[in-house]
Amino acid sequence: DPLTQINTLLPGSTIGILGGGQLGRMMSLAGTAMGYRFITLDPTPESPCGQVTPQIEAAYSDEDAARKLAAKSDVITYEFENVDAGVAALLERESYVPQGSSLLYTTQHRLREKRAIEAAGVPVAPYREITDLQSLTKAAEELGLPCVLKTATGGYDGKGQAVIRTADELETAYRELATSVRELVLEKYIAFQAEISVIAARSPKGEIKSFPVSENVHVNGILHLSIVPARIEESIQREARKLAEKLAESLGLSGLLAVEMFVTEDGRLYVNEVAPRPHNSGHYTMEACATSQFEQHIRAICNLPLGDTTLLSPVVMVNVLGQHLDEVVKRAGAPDDALNEFGVVPKLHLYGKNESKTGRKMGHINLLCKDVQHALDWVEQTQIWRQ
Ligand code: ADP
Ligand code: MG
Repeated sequence: DPLTQINTLLPGSTIGILGGGQLGRMMSLAGTAMGYRFITLDPTPESPCGQVTPQIEAAYSDEDAARKLAAKSDVITYEFENVDAGVAALLERESYVPQGSSLLYTTQHRLREKRAIEAAGVPVAPYREITDLQSLTKAAEELGLPCVLKTATGGYDGKGQAVIRTADELETAYRELATSVRELVLEKYIAFQAEISVIAARSPKGEIKSFPVSENVHVNGILHLSIVPARIEESIQREARKLAEKLAESLGLSGLLAVEMFVTEDGRLYVNEVAPRPHNSGHYTMEACATSQFEQHIRAICNLPLGDTTLLSPVVMVNVLGQHLDEVVKRAGAPDDALNEFGVVPKLHLYGKNESKTGRKMGHINLLCKDVQHALDWVEQTQIWRQ
């Protein structure tokens, strides 16, 4: 139809990215290879994305800067959820934002997000809205302990949440979290056999494709490993991809949707949270799939045919955090011969962040392998990830 044709952006078009972090950097590296031009808006001088594209250096809430970005871009995308509502509205008025702002609005808030997932007929862990200590006590009785208390907004990498195991921990957890944000949500703690994620793409013309299931291991609330193929039953993996595609359809997605799920011991799936953008647990696709999540994101927002998502090789992605960086950089030029026995091919990606801090995501390594166990042994043997 004519609308679809209008909204198809061919190579040569300029893509504006709100946010200049590693996701923007990898989006623009993939899109540049396809012939697109990029510009990013980010307050950090020489941001990870700004090192590879022109950058407007300004606060995310700066409307004049957003207007400049819109003027230079044929299409706008973002690399994080917490886009200022005023800026989002301005960009939609003055440019083309195929992802829209309504999905941002939904995923910025855990309660709105859970309601939208339930409305799509997809299960989430039992939860309650918490407004004060009294409602928390009542909710904990109804759900039964252990539970996880989370701030409704602003949380990431395990921040803004507390596990509650006994009733006498309720008040401390409440006082700790309610200081920053008023609205909280209490979730039943899910004793999972695995955490997995699926990244689904949908283009404005309605084509949908999902990537293979990633099995995710977190340490201290931060993603440590993605293991693909996931070590769970095939039928569960098929179900997980179906759920992610159903969500993409139901949310009217344009772009990518990362869907984090818990797999219970008895093989049931609960969606934990979703993100309307490329995701850390999809970095494995960069060398291991026929199309990377970043290329797929560009294809989806530009309304191109979506790329093939076939897995070309088993892979383990390991995150390089601040505390791992020095050792990883040191060894990048001198691979350890002792590790060759595993037949693992490590592909290093660093984000060029100016400041390294414990727990900060500085890069990742995709370990291509014959069997994921070889790559897991490689990670263990390097001793880099033991702290
Ligand atoms: P974030 O935005 O920080 O990623 P998540 O809700 O994904 O927040 O929580 C981070 C991690 O904490 C999850 O990946 C999981 O390991 C653990 N977690 C969160 N909620 C639950 C839950 N209801 N049951 C069990 N573990 C949970
Ligand atoms: Mg998460």
